[in-house]
Amino acid sequence: MSALLNYVGGKFVPARAGRTREFLNPADNSVLGAATESEAADVEAAIAEARRAFDEGPWPWTPAPERAAKLFKLADLIDANAEEFARRDTLNNGKPLRESRADAADAAACFRYYAGLATKPHGETYEVGDPNIVSMSVREPIGVCGQIIPWNFPLLMAAWKLAPGLAAGNCCILKPSELTPWSAQLLFQLIDEVGFPPGAVQLIYGAGDPAGSALAESHGVDKIAFTGGTATGRKIMQASAGNLKRVTLELGGKSPIVMFADTDPDVALEYAMFGIFAGQGEVCNAGSRLFLERSMYDDFLPRLKAACEKIAVGRGLDDDTEMGPLISKAYQQKVLGYIESGKESGAELLTGGRGYEDWRAAGNFVQPTVFVNAPPDAKIVREEIFGPVLAVDTFEAEGEAIRKANDTVYGLSGAVFTRDGARAQRVIRKLRAGVTWINTFHFTFNEAPWGGYKQSGFGRELGPHGYDAYTEVKQITTHLAPVRLGWFKGLG
Ligand code: NDP
Repeated sequence: MSALLNYVGGKFVPARAGRTREFLNPADNSVLGAATESEAADVEAAIAEARRAFDEGPWPWTPAPERAAKLFKLADLIDANAEEFARRDTLNNGKPLRESRADAADAAACFRYYAGLATKPHGETYEVGDPNIVSMSVREPIGVCGQIIPWNFPLLMAAWKLAPGLAAGNCCILKPSELTPWSAQLLFQLIDEVGFPPGAVQLIYGAGDPAGSALAESHGVDKIAFTGGTATGRKIMQASAGNLKRVTLELGGKSPIVMFADTDPDVALEYAMFGIFAGQGEVCNAGSRLFLERSMYDDFLPRLKAACEKIAVGRGLDDDTEMGPLISKAYQQKVLGYIESGKESGAELLTGGRGYEDWRAAGNFVQPTVFVNAPPDAKIVREEIFGPVLAVDTFEAEGEAIRKANDTVYGLSGAVFTRDGARAQRVIRKLRAGVTWINTFHFTFNEAPWGGYKQSGFGRELGPHGYDAYTEVKQITTHLAPVRLGWFKGLG
């Protein structure tokens, strides 16, 4: 396979210095291919193209139905290539095929949703107290948008960023993670086939620093949309301050699941596991803290341990795989380090806690791991691990559950499980989190807003809020019968 190329000014091009970076299969760390490695100068060239495409058009002024038609076509092409997208993301990220197939379907649906939204009304009119004055607001694209995405949902995060950005008429520059560049190349081949104006949508491969940081620092970029870790989010905000860019940040989490004892025990068990082990726990909203009502704890724990030990951990491409490897050796070591810190903190290891010694030793696998009785200040309770590690705690009363659930610097998501509808509402309204579920978990909808409270970021993606985040609001006030003001006496 030849190296994956940047897509700049409507053409696939290598980075100027001619360097490439390999990307791997995390199931065995074999090399899948290489991507061109951009430096600041390559990013600046893409920004210059985007600036021209935005300032001179035609993309920002292309009528909404025409923008929508291109996005609808792209959605159809994604569907037609769904199996190849799923194969690439599974090989490159490690996640089971059933998950990457769902990502491909969601990505197509995301482009379709925003294609539809582009043609819906977005303005408002205002009653201002003078019958001769009409005041209204319109929404206009922000400009050049740098979109920096992580490795846990390579295709889907590209869709969450590009679909609303392009629908609203912005010129977008996507920077995928250097660890998972593969599916973006196919996406941009399809974008090329659809045919957007040169510079309207571009792809830059390269490391976070210098490629991502060059986007965040540039005064030619009007907005940065970022999904990734909280520490990187902080750096991006600082770098964006120079020209006061619009910034949306979707960062980490330490999401709580509160289970009341009236929940069907089988439902409780499956969601507790799904919450943390879907996507190997490398999911921003992973349900990494489970709070069980005390009366269900003793029956639940042995069942949880037995069920975790039956999870099929293997290659994502194998049909029966339920959990894949972590993204890299470095991440595997980081997660195993958290597990060691959990043991040292005095927490009790219920199950898991290690890698594997069979064929999986070549990959980055970590056993599904559950801790109980962790001290409240243990790192495994407080920090985002981003791996298959669950901390289980108990509560006696509703107020205690809410207090424990909110005892975190994060606020991305949370859930409550109970058959008592009033209690479910009381608890969910008190959770300090941006995405919440009652009697379910993880599911996201293109139609509904996604984003965090507290140090999980700000701004919202998806739904109408996600579209608005790619627009500026312009007030237009018109006098229907202009007359002299009489303000300057010298005018007579
Ligand atoms: P990062 O936040 O560093 O990576 C996310 C994206 O940002 C990648 O494209 C990365 O590029 C890019 N990036 C890195 N540094 C900079 C920078 N200085 N300026 C601009 N862009 C940059 O994630 P990591 O892989 O380092 O993960 C760290 C932690 O973040 C994880 O352990 C996890 O806790 C959390 N995380 C959260 C995610 C979420 O979905 N909210 C997703 C991923 C991680 P590149 O990868 O090419 O270096």
